[in-house]
Amino acid sequence: MGLNKLKALVCGAGGFIGSHLVKRLKQEGYWVRGIDLKYPEFAPTAADDFWKEDLRNQLIVSDLFSDSYDEAYQLAADMGGAGYIFTGEHDAEVMHNSATINLNILHYGQKSGNLKKIFYSSSACVYPEHIQQDPANPGLAEHLAYPAAPDSEYGWEKLFSERLYFSFARNYGIKVHIARFHNIFGPEGTWTGGREKAPAAICRKVAEAVDDGTIEIWGDGKQTRSFLYIDECLEGVRRLMQSDFSGPVNIGSEEMVSINQLARMAMKIAGKKLSIRHVPGPLGVRGRNSHNALIKEKLGWTPSASLYNGMARTYEWITKQIATTAVTG
Ligand code: NAD
Repeated sequence: MGLNKLKALVCGAGGFIGSHLVKRLKQEGYWVRGIDLKYPEFAPTAADDFWKEDLRNQLIVSDLFSDSYDEAYQLAADMGGAGYIFTGEHDAEVMHNSATINLNILHYGQKSGNLKKIFYSSSACVYPEHIQQDPANPGLAEHLAYPAAPDSEYGWEKLFSERLYFSFARNYGIKVHIARFHNIFGPEGTWTGGREKAPAAICRKVAEAVDDGTIEIWGDGKQTRSFLYIDECLEGVRRLMQSDFSGPVNIGSEEMVSINQLARMAMKIAGKKLSIRHVPGPLGVRGRNSHNALIKEKLGWTPSASLYNGMARTYEWITKQIATTAVTG
């Protein structure tokens, strides 16, 4: 390791956002250690050192903090698309696994004295269900998280962990920066198998459909969301880490679309005319949008790239994955 390099720890470095974050930190000249249950799925890790280990294991986490880090990024969580977190079948795992990871990291990080500054990835899922019933959602300003009423156990765990991080900041002086991510998407994200989210699922369905064919959409497709391209998410994370603002702050896009509009966007990118068949499926809330006044005020920056451009890059990557899968069987 070069003498002057800053040292970063990325927890969840085998995941979608974590693996992109490792690349970004490497580009910025950091020495990076990653840890995850798995290696990144679609490309070799860019980390200098990668531990394929379980953050629920206290011995491992204690060992992890026998080294010191200038910055730590906590992205590890039991995650999934709507087909995973909203069915209720995984609630106990989601809450237990993610809370254990966060408890271990803070406890052993604090005890070792080697954890100085940490980023924690919270989620738009912390916001109350009842303020997301209107597809024309005007945006979820950060203070609206209370009084708390998230629509999933995943959201409750995130809210608990936000408070856990802030309590360690208050009592032990650890610097904490928390963002609430809103639907991050892009290349090298899960695109098939049930854990993928709407942009990837729609790109895949459109790519696989024959011309003049049909794609299936869960519900009436009028539910609305905003989606943020991965590069902009990382820009927000890095800016937040370099600021003296702890958050929690939204990192999301304000370009809200319905799922039907998202599907039509993918069709336009693909140059295909398809029909949409609406089928029953897990839906989540009716309308969700980021609200970016606070990030603008505190960081002097907001995401600005168009959804169309991000979808085009994601579509291109997914078509390559489909072609590769077809060849390799
Ligand atoms: P992801 O599932 O791709 O990444 C999470 C990683 O954590 C996975 O690689 C997983 O293997 C790892 N992990 C889970 N349990 C672990 C354990 N016990 N020990 C070690 N590693 C473990 O998800 P992502 O999309 O990259 O999300 C990263 C973070 O951002 C998560 O905390 C997620 O809740 C949060 N977030 C993401 C989004 C989004 O749209 N992607 C939105 C809101 C919040």
